[in-house]
Amino acid sequence: MKNRLFAILVAVSMLASLASCDTPTNTESQDGIETQITDLENLESNDIETQEPDPESHDDIETIETVVTEFESYDDIKTGVRERFLRYVTYDTQSDLDSDTSPSSSKQIDFAKILAEECKAIGLVEVELSEYGIVTATLPANTQGDIPVVGFLSHMDTAPDASGAGVVPRVHENYDGNDIVLDAGTVISPTEFPELRNYVGQTLVTASGDTLLGADDKSGLAIIMSAMEYLIKNPDIPHGKIRIAFTPDEEIGRGTENFDVEAFGVDFAFTVDGGPVGDFTYENFNAVRADIEIFGRAMHTGYAKGTMVNSMLIANELIAALPADKAPVNTEGYEAFYHVLSVEGGVEKTTIAIPIRSFFEDEMDEMKLTIQLLVDDINEEYGEGTASVTFTDQYSNMSSQIEPWIIELAERAYNAAGIEFAPTPARGGTDGSNLSFRGIPCPDIFTGMRNFHGLYEYIAVESMEKSAQVVLKICELLTQ
Ligand SMILES: [Zn+2]
Repeated sequence: MKNRLFAILVAVSMLASLASCDTPTNTESQDGIETQITDLENLESNDIETQEPDPESHDDIETIETVVTEFESYDDIKTGVRERFLRYVTYDTQSDLDSDTSPSSSKQIDFAKILAEECKAIGLVEVELSEYGIVTATLPANTQGDIPVVGFLSHMDTAPDASGAGVVPRVHENYDGNDIVLDAGTVISPTEFPELRNYVGQTLVTASGDTLLGADDKSGLAIIMSAMEYLIKNPDIPHGKIRIAFTPDEEIGRGTENFDVEAFGVDFAFTVDGGPVGDFTYENFNAVRADIEIFGRAMHTGYAKGTMVNSMLIANELIAALPADKAPVNTEGYEAFYHVLSVEGGVEKTTIAIPIRSFFEDEMDEMKLTIQLLVDDINEEYGEGTASVTFTDQYSNMSSQIEPWIIELAERAYNAAGIEFAPTPARGGTDGSNLSFRGIPCPDIFTGMRNFHGLYEYIAVESMEKSAQVVLKICELLTQ
């Protein structure tokens, strides 16, 4: 359907009253069950005053009015995100924690080439694929003025936590609220994941049961690509210069190590890599990884009394001594954790990898000290040199780098797209947290992904559409 453009005046006060009415929103209720906005069209037509733009009111700072473009249809976006997402997830782009190369796996380069070609095909310019597998492209401004240059980023790799090979996406049209039964005994059930009930009537995409889906972050790729295509096809929407980037290796904390901040040339950016509709992140964990080595002594088991030192059993003692209430399974919100990610070994040597996460620097220092003391205890008991630990900084909390006007812009864009703005601290890291410390303030926008990094992952096509609309609104609002 051809889009008919007309402008509406959205008064912030009207949106404020909307937020307090009985309309379902995506805020968390007391029992933690989220509800989704499902009826945006009705909201807009019934509740938001619609009129021709008044040039005078544009300057009226008392009422802070915002002129946004309203489209009759987002059909192109809907088709675009769905088709792209279903296609992208079939490529295996898993990053490799044990690799020293950039990108960490060559299959990411293969996929990056496809993305670069697609950027050219939809009409983006300055399309580049770096030797490190980073794709960048430009949508030039179509209007005059001193408009900040904005960037949008997503990552092409999928998490090492579950297989990303041979992903077969399953589309569940008009989801009925019941168990989603997949292959290999995998069932995504609203009993276990109550938030599923918020998606009744929507189009859900899952994997087939024995792989992850890869919505993290192929949904972001599909959203950004589709939003750019939409702007190119609808030149009536004013926007400044836009830069996009698709990066590898985010899941192993190396997504921006070869990112050329200067060449990207933006004033600020957003990663499109967040959770459910409404999520917005400008705070994230401080992240440190503790790598512990424990050495033992092998002996013939029949004659081992008093001489064998089994490094695996010592590793077991250390793991058991970690505070149980600080495991990922027992923490949420602003709570910190130790995550025993891997234990590998034999009698002679065992290595343990423990990512540590905290929003607060002083707490992070305490947690590192806890591990150091456990290692010291081992050396005291089993002899000096039995155990050692190396701490590696991975990323930091970006909140100090994000100026308030960027958060306000995002909030206006969410509201203009009919979405309640729900800032949420990220219990993880994104490319944006590293970029924020390198000169590109870079908070994170939702994509709609749920249960990511595992077999129970799903995403609603409708959520991706909403995210693409937010991207469009940000671009448009920047011109005002
Ligand atoms: Zn991600």
